[in-house]
Amino acid sequence: MIGLVSPYAGGMVRRYLVQTYGCQMNEHDSERIAGLLEEDGLEQTDSVEDADVIVLNTCCIRENADNKLYGHLGNLKQLKTDRPGLQIAVAGCLAQKDRDTVRQKAPFVDVVFGTHNVGRAAELLHESRISGPITEIIEDSEEFPSALPVQREAGHAAWMTIQIGCDNSCAFCIVPAVRGKEISRPFGELIDEVGELVRDGVSEVTLLGQNVNSYGRDLTLASRGADIDDAVRFATGTAWSDSDRRARPLFADLLRSVGSVDGIRRVRYTSPHPKDLRPETIAAMADTPTVCEHLHLPLQSGSDETLAAMHRGYTADRYLEKLAAARSGVGDLAVTTDIIVGFPGETDADFEMTLDVAAAAEYDSAYTFVFSPRPGTEAADMTEMSVDPDVIRERFDRLRVVIERSGRAKHQARVGRREEVVVEGPSKKDPNALTGRTRQNKLVHFPVDAPLRAGTYAMVDIVGAHAHSLAGELVEVTAAPTHRTRIAVVSA
Ligand code: SF4
Repeated sequence: MIGLVSPYAGGMVRRYLVQTYGCQMNEHDSERIAGLLEEDGLEQTDSVEDADVIVLNTCCIRENADNKLYGHLGNLKQLKTDRPGLQIAVAGCLAQKDRDTVRQKAPFVDVVFGTHNVGRAAELLHESRISGPITEIIEDSEEFPSALPVQREAGHAAWMTIQIGCDNSCAFCIVPAVRGKEISRPFGELIDEVGELVRDGVSEVTLLGQNVNSYGRDLTLASRGADIDDAVRFATGTAWSDSDRRARPLFADLLRSVGSVDGIRRVRYTSPHPKDLRPETIAAMADTPTVCEHLHLPLQSGSDETLAAMHRGYTADRYLEKLAAARSGVGDLAVTTDIIVGFPGETDADFEMTLDVAAAAEYDSAYTFVFSPRPGTEAADMTEMSVDPDVIRERFDRLRVVIERSGRAKHQARVGRREEVVVEGPSKKDPNALTGRTRQNKLVHFPVDAPLRAGTYAMVDIVGAHAHSLAGELVEVTAAPTHRTRIAVVSA
């Protein structure tokens, strides 16, 4: 907070609440906003009534996100009338895209800021206390917003955004419009942060990006032709800069380096784009024992025509080839996916192909979505090719049957194995049981005599399989957690 003295200093403690809509990228942005507000002297609360500052970190990817936001803002309006000192901020993708609508529908909002100026959250709140409502949206950014303090949600596990934005142009997706072009975070900075996380007791990291496999592409442009000095090494990674084998650091280099940091037990990542899934990434997964055997590989459709209309850049055969390569390279690999049903123009024949590919892929699970047009995307202008909602519903149910069949078989095949889980907390269904997660990202519920802290690693015997989880029996604790307990950022 250079040049600004916090108005909260020396007075009563003020409390903040960050409510998150949407994906993991947004949740991580919320952690950054929370970190900035903490650094500014505010304390976290999970109660709207107790909060002096409420930040709604919005998403425009999910259906009805705007209706939910305006409904929630309608509820907050009365609170603001009763307590004029309350500050309300709207951040995130929807703020970036619909700033004027937010202002128009909710003029009582103090601050509207976008995805490229998360780092200004605390300053904007200060400024609005002096000068009234502020809208500040930066259209695009050249640099990764590094070095923001973070208030993390889970103590033993951390998300790290390795890249923001997306250079692709999938017809259904609003991300390129609201998050801008791809920007990679410097390699050395990421490795330094992993070291800091380990010192804080973190043992699991998930690398986040819209298209993690193209990590580093922009770092190349920044360093091409430059002498290999310390700055280049920091930006691009020592492993790459010490060799002359190629022109840029790959995601695989990052995966190997993060996975080799002492104290890290598990590395995950999401999401790779199928067209950019390289053999080097599969090899890095296979060679790095800490990288978990789980691949989320979004299919979206099994029809080549639909894939072309979506601008996905691969065919169904190419997708299945990549999947086969991943499975043959990485033993015991769990695979999950995203599939959209009812993309404009999807015929019965197109959908049958999706069913065929889904069956051939034998997924562990899938996020299946009914197509819904997002204003501002190419697909939103394809309304004359819309698929009948009844047809979509029927297709959706048929797809679910195929996915659940392979998911159940995959779960059943794990019965009788001994697996390591990391404890996430008490089971929601049984107060005498805990829920843990395996390396394949599967939930295991297992009874315990005495509670174990979240972040504990334990071996369990898998004794039962359900559609969405496994049943286990505790064998032994393999590692105790070392992190401090943290307070959660609330998800809306
Ligand atoms: S790859 Fe496609 S779906 Fe993913 S963020 Fe980029 S444009 Fe959206």
